[in-house]
Amino acid sequence: MSKYHPLSEQEAIEIARGIEGFFPADAALSSKEIGDGNLNLVFHITDSASGKSLIMKQALPYAKVVGESWPLSLDRSRIESEALILQNKLAPGLVPKVYKYDPELALTVMEDLSDHVIMRRGLIDGTVYPKAAEHISTFLANTLFFTSDLGMNQQDKKVQLGKFINPDLCKITEDLIFDDPYTVSSNNNYEPSIEDAAEALRTDASLHLEVAILRDKFLTKGEALLHGDLHTGSIFATPESTKVIDPEFAYYGPMGFDVGAFIANLFLNYAGQEHWIADEAKRREFRAYLTNTVRDVWTKFEAKFRALWNEHNVDRISRDTPAYQDFYMNRLLQDAVGFAGCKVVRRIVGLSHVADIDTIPDAAARERAQRMALRIGTALIKANRGVRSIEEAIDAAVTAA
Ligand code: ADP
Ligand code: MG
Ligand code: MG
Ligand code: MG
Repeated sequence: MSKYHPLSEQEAIEIARGIEGFFPADAALSSKEIGDGNLNLVFHITDSASGKSLIMKQALPYAKVVGESWPLSLDRSRIESEALILQNKLAPGLVPKVYKYDPELALTVMEDLSDHVIMRRGLIDGTVYPKAAEHISTFLANTLFFTSDLGMNQQDKKVQLGKFINPDLCKITEDLIFDDPYTVSSNNNYEPSIEDAAEALRTDASLHLEVAILRDKFLTKGEALLHGDLHTGSIFATPESTKVIDPEFAYYGPMGFDVGAFIANLFLNYAGQEHWIADEAKRREFRAYLTNTVRDVWTKFEAKFRALWNEHNVDRISRDTPAYQDFYMNRLLQDAVGFAGCKVVRRIVGLSHVADIDTIPDAAARERAQRMALRIGTALIKANRGVRSIEEAIDAAVTAA
């Protein structure tokens, strides 16, 4: 019989004690479940005497948001721990260290990053992260390039792809991002005040065409090992340091999906600033910081990815076809812009929302932010296949806002 069961805080302490050489033998450990997600338990284990601490994340076999009726494979816990280990090799220091993985308990023990702040929270509070674009662009360039057919042997890549088959979590994305927002679905979740804008999403044939094309890429394009859920709630940050957590959605997909996730969440915060900064000049300044970060993350990502291509490409054909690099980077930009748009839209009308907008207390300001986000999201989706530069994408979004 499997020993899997959701752990209590006390059981988490016993497991932490068993991690050799981590805590002093006689440590008085305390344990607190701090998970804010719907799919997992997260225990924070601390020893106040030594100041040592760690995090234990355990996958639940169902999504909490809908009770136990939505089963989810525990294999995502293996995928998360293996993705973290691989990402730490490819982008050292940009993800938490994994201390231990227990397959039976679907449990990953990892470095405690509590000295960082979840970037979404920080941005809501108006914090500027001057290094985030630098760090996230490195994370993206290294993890995407070195897991693709450009950066690794093509037969090894196929074998690696087979270790990251993640159908349950991909289904969440396929339904919640690419399907529900554009149809009548019981998964959708929005306030009656924006019914007209939600209806417009359901009746816009040219929008549906773009979403169908993007969805097809998500379903079929096994380009690189994605993080799969790279929103600002999956990023721990300080002004000096950036760490990416929570790769349980990792699978082989189109690179633009990860790049677009980060960009989307900067634009969601942009829309939310309708409330968070009252002073108009300060709000304009913070929004300029957000669009500069969109520009920086793409520009730095592109430069780093091209440098890896030029120095570490294992693929003769792309090496010997110089024009192919320009074609490839432009197509990647277009994918990122399209996926960013889809990710903005789903956070307004779909099941899962973001605090940047949902926690705005004033209903009128919240509605303005929701409508602005929908305008930005649809503008990005419609622009995607035509954009030739990140500047054009930012222009499309800001003009629509
Ligand atoms: P979920 O997949 O359920 O969203 P996350 O991995 O995003 O789980 O973790 C949920 C929360 O737990 C995070 O927002 C953060 O507050 C806390 N957490 C997760 N990992 C760590 C970590 N390594 N260090 C400190 N806190 C963490
Ligand atoms: Mg969470
Ligand atoms: Mg999370
Ligand atoms: Mg998660």
